[in-house]
Amino acid sequence: MSQVAGAAPSGPLIDEYDALLVDLDGVVYAGGSALPHAVEVLSAVRARGVPLAFVTNNASRTPEAVAALLESIGLAASADEVATSAQAAARLLATRFDAGAPVLVIGGEGLQQAVRAVGLRPVIEAGDRPVAVVQGYGPEVGWRDLAEAAVAVRSGAHWVATNLDLTIPSDRGILPGNGTLVAAVAAALGRQPDEIAGKPAPPLHHESVLRTGGTAPLVVGDRLDTDIAGANAVGADSLLVLTGVTGPSELVAAAAEERPTHVTEDLRGLLHPAEAVVTSAAHTRCGGWRAELEGAVVRVSGEGSPVDALRAVLPLAWKLVDAARQPELRLPAVLATWWRPR
Ligand SMILES: [Mg+2]
Repeated sequence: MSQVAGAAPSGPLIDEYDALLVDLDGVVYAGGSALPHAVEVLSAVRARGVPLAFVTNNASRTPEAVAALLESIGLAASADEVATSAQAAARLLATRFDAGAPVLVIGGEGLQQAVRAVGLRPVIEAGDRPVAVVQGYGPEVGWRDLAEAAVAVRSGAHWVATNLDLTIPSDRGILPGNGTLVAAVAAALGRQPDEIAGKPAPPLHHESVLRTGGTAPLVVGDRLDTDIAGANAVGADSLLVLTGVTGPSELVAAAAEERPTHVTEDLRGLLHPAEAVVTSAAHTRCGGWRAELEGAVVRVSGEGSPVDALRAVLPLAWKLVDAARQPELRLPAVLATWWRPR
């Protein structure tokens, strides 16, 4: 969190950065609809001249399809602004193998296209003697594909997974994601993939940075274990928005490697100054809130916006987590409904 003792917040948060790397699900849209404020805020960021990259672990869609989806919710986007784990995986393969080398592609159209785009040759059977297997989510992937992957890897092919997300969100709820299918092959082979491209691994972050040309990017996401951990792994600043899977309760319990630089309720936080958290030995303050520590209890008092109360609590709660203690929160009743797990 920003800990600027005594300093007044100045310009909008986005002005501290030269590129914005934005996760999609839970940040820009949910269930095929734009999240409130997302379109206006990202349009405003673009109007300020800050380059955007839309960063997704989903390898099944092409960048053109993702851009079309963004257009359909009212956000202008070009395919060049979309960075997928499929593209990051293809770049990994292109650094290792010569143009024209056969690669067994297990996944959707986005992965096929990404492999072709870097000059490698997609094949569909282990009998085609692939030098590598690249495995990503695709709704048509089935047992035969996983069996081909297993045979090829056992024959010595280099194995790259686009990402290891165990689940994928859908309008029917949580469904098996690529990590679940990779785990099936890994269980059969008794080994893990050689490389991972997607968040929280660095390759997709590097792909996104290349896309924007930024040197001081801000990563925006809704998941601690992918978006925020991925930013921390490469030393980038991050913003957690509370519009997706992570709520205040999960954030309070976050391990050190999954803690964001900033937290805001939604993307509007980009256009406001970062709220300063003032810390002293005995307590922390943010906005109109004060938090203090009594043993393992974090006691909150004051008034103001709920997210400021969360900002005041986090440094104290994380101190307890670092000491392997479970933070106990004493919150005023006015925060109780806001402060619930997602
Ligand atoms: Mg997300």
